[in-house]
Amino acid sequence: MPKKVLVVDDSAMMRKIVVKNIREAGFDVSVVEASDGKEGLEKFQAEAFDAVLTDWNMPNMDGVTMVKEIRKIDPNKKVPIVMVTTEGSADKVKEAVLAGANNYIAKPFTADRLREKLGKILG
Ligand SMILES: [Mg+2]
Repeated sequence: MPKKVLVVDDSAMMRKIVVKNIREAGFDVSVVEASDGKEGLEKFQAEAFDAVLTDWNMPNMDGVTMVKEIRKIDPNKKVPIVMVTTEGSADKVKEAVLAGANNYIAKPFTADRLREKLGKILG
């Protein structure tokens, strides 16, 4: 059965790139997209996911706030969350991890980098 992945980014183009790379990496996934943290949280609450990939900077609710909200629902971190963001400083990585993110991919990313990080969570 394909794994279900929630891809959250306010850029439709970036969502497209992420989804394309997931597929080209050979992962058998079904993807649900959301355009900001608020929509991402609503979709997370509506169905079960195997992983969440999220941007940081988004309107309405940013990625790190969404991660915190998801971890209130999923305190045992059953669902891995990967932040895909241009916010690559050590402080930002630390903030994301403290919020409950499992992993971090800096934009712009390569297909190999995404494959490596996703391999760890999607098998
Ligand atoms: Mg953004």
